[in-house]
Amino acid sequence: MTVKVEVPTFPHFINGKWEPASSKETFDVFNPATGELVAKVAKGTEVDVDRAVKAARAAFDQGEWKNMNPKDRAKILYAISYQIADHAEELAYLEAISSGGTVRRIGNSDILQMVDLFQTLANFTVDYPFSETLPVPPFPGPAHNFIWREPIGVCVAITPWNLPMSIATWKIAPALAMGNTIVIKPASYTPLSTLKLTEIISAVVPPGVINVVTGPGADVGEALVQHRLVDKVAFTGSTDVGRRIMGLAAGTIKNTTLELGGKSPNIILEDADLNIALPGSLFGVFLHSGQLCESGTRLFVPDKLYDQVVAGLVALSSKLKLGNPLDPTTDVGPVISKKQKETILAYIEAGKQEGATLVCGGKEVKVPGCEDGHFIEPTIFTNVTNNMKIAQEEIFGPVLCVIRYAEIEEAIQMANDTIYGLAAGVWTRDVNKAYEVARQLQAGVVWINDWHMLRSDAPFGGYKQSGIGREMGQHSLDAYTQVKHVHTSMTPELDRRNWYGILFGQN
Ligand code: NAD
Repeated sequence: MTVKVEVPTFPHFINGKWEPASSKETFDVFNPATGELVAKVAKGTEVDVDRAVKAARAAFDQGEWKNMNPKDRAKILYAISYQIADHAEELAYLEAISSGGTVRRIGNSDILQMVDLFQTLANFTVDYPFSETLPVPPFPGPAHNFIWREPIGVCVAITPWNLPMSIATWKIAPALAMGNTIVIKPASYTPLSTLKLTEIISAVVPPGVINVVTGPGADVGEALVQHRLVDKVAFTGSTDVGRRIMGLAAGTIKNTTLELGGKSPNIILEDADLNIALPGSLFGVFLHSGQLCESGTRLFVPDKLYDQVVAGLVALSSKLKLGNPLDPTTDVGPVISKKQKETILAYIEAGKQEGATLVCGGKEVKVPGCEDGHFIEPTIFTNVTNNMKIAQEEIFGPVLCVIRYAEIEEAIQMANDTIYGLAAGVWTRDVNKAYEVARQLQAGVVWINDWHMLRSDAPFGGYKQSGIGREMGQHSLDAYTQVKHVHTSMTPELDRRNWYGILFGQN
């Protein structure tokens, strides 16, 4: 007997309630490892966007959330962190069956980081300088002056499919901590974990403080970015879409944070400990099948170590086990979709055409039990030059470009020769040399003898076309506040006012 399991339908989440799409239409969500249909999700329109924004606006304007004592909001952030930990298994499952991330990574890293971020920002909120007093100045006259930090208002979060839950959290946690309300639009490949996370959070915040509208970027995303009642847009995604969003946000001069693409350089120095640098560099590029914005996709290797490094990388890569992300023994899962798989394979073909040498992987794989999934072998190209397409464009797949250098100055010059500037890394036993290289690298984060080490209390974001603004840490709280200067005159006599003589000098 075959048991027919009904595919669940997920509506929008607006004003504390599940709400079907006004169009009654849905779109399909597939498991990238198996090709199975896993859910149907509300296909939003401008009408749904307007409902969600108005709910967030009312929740902000009525003031209960924004006027709450920050210590009380911090307690709620802690409550959210405990709820995330309690729902870890369900969240990890929903994330894995839609994004293709392995449960091993999501359980051992993403969920812990989400819990840590809510707690860290809660602690920062308690000590946050919501009001600072300036010294009484002699000029332009004695006065009490304050700098107040206030929430911005209604914030929109538009998130990508690669780390849907974590990236939503990087926006939700600081927005809520500072007293804003939020509307989230997750990527259409991966809305499930964000919807569940929102349901969990909504149990402890007033209705309308957190909302989700699902649907295509071109409709739902653009309607959100242009909505006149939205005050801020926080976007994570590709540089092309970021450019489009920046243009649309200009119409209403919205505060905008952009976290965009990367082509991060990773430099091995001659004195590096290769026992760590080689697995570390592969962790840097093949985690989540290379679908991480900060992946170390360009590896710069000195002439002297070149053959040894390449041999070591190939040996280690061939041990990685591709498989179903739900299987805890899987090292590398699928890529997100058939379309993404074809894009990656086209880049691999371009690398061969340009004269790079394929030394590992390069092909699609049929994983037993996951025959309809989208798997690509961890792929390594050598003899890559930094001007090749595969070294300049973000592939967003498991493809490593190994580039040879003679002198460190040449490696640094090539490392910075890109439109991106998200992350960079250097492997060496000499910490002074490491700092010297780190100072010259144009990137928002530099890892020394490590990779992917993001922290809740440290800012993350890009130089150049990798973005504008920072997420996480104290910087992310600043990014969700407005600054107000309040001046109170201490001069009771009119004729002692500095401005009186300026305008009424003849009287
Ligand atoms: P994407 O730019 O295609 O989509 C991101 C989000 O934007 C999705 O929710 C999508 O529906 C929405 N969108 C698409 N077009 C839109 C439009 N015209 N208006 C408004 N919204 C629109 O990115 P993706 O393919 O989902 O994710 C991969 C990209 O994200 C890569 O470039 C990667 O480097 C980047 N990324 C960056 C970071 C970072 O922190 N810098 C983190 C993760 C991913």
